[in-house]
Amino acid sequence: MSHQVLCFEPQTRVFQFVLSAFDIGLPCRACPAGDCAAWCPLYRKVKMPDVDVHSGGCQCGAVRYETTGQPSKTAVCHCRYCQTRTGSAFGISVYFPTQAVTQLHGALKDYAFTTASGGTFTTRFCTNCGTSVFWNLTVFPELTGIAGGTFDPPSFWYELKREVFTRTQAPFVQIDAIEKFETSAAFCPVQADPTHLRGE
Ligand SMILES: [Zn+2]
Ligand SMILES: [Zn+2]
Repeated sequence: MSHQVLCFEPQTRVFQFVLSAFDIGLPCRACPAGDCAAWCPLYRKVKMPDVDVHSGGCQCGAVRYETTGQPSKTAVCHCRYCQTRTGSAFGISVYFPTQAVTQLHGALKDYAFTTASGGTFTTRFCTNCGTSVFWNLTVFPELTGIAGGTFDPPSFWYELKREVFTRTQAPFVQIDAIEKFETSAAFCPVQADPTHLRGE
């Protein structure tokens, strides 16, 4: 049946046919295990039209998540933790209330360390491909950070509010966030980082 392979084609006649297939309870075999509710953005869009839902996941696809609503905070972070966590010049932090983030499937491994401010930074990455997907900071106990590049296309749907830790910004990076901070409001150092993570 043609509906089995075309569920990601919106706004076509096939789209209408897919909806008919959903409506009569047929599984869509384009999605793993026919689990359209977990995988198919089209399915969610149709079935939950009033909810602002975004999905994403790791590079290999094992870890998948979805968020509801708008993020509480967004920032580009030039700190050494984000530079080493990503292997890039900066991290993109998209924070949601933890209850607005649902991990649909996939295995995560946690790595926790103590920050210069004395808090705990727990990064959560895919055990298969190593993508850094989530993190939690004790300084923001109600929030879960999501790595901004892991959202499904169009990945950068959220508004970027600020840049933090510009003290370690790469000289070739230019970002036009409205607010820029040399460190961040939550930064309150009580101990020195190891040499490779030092920001000064
Ligand atoms: Zn993965
Ligand atoms: Zn950072």
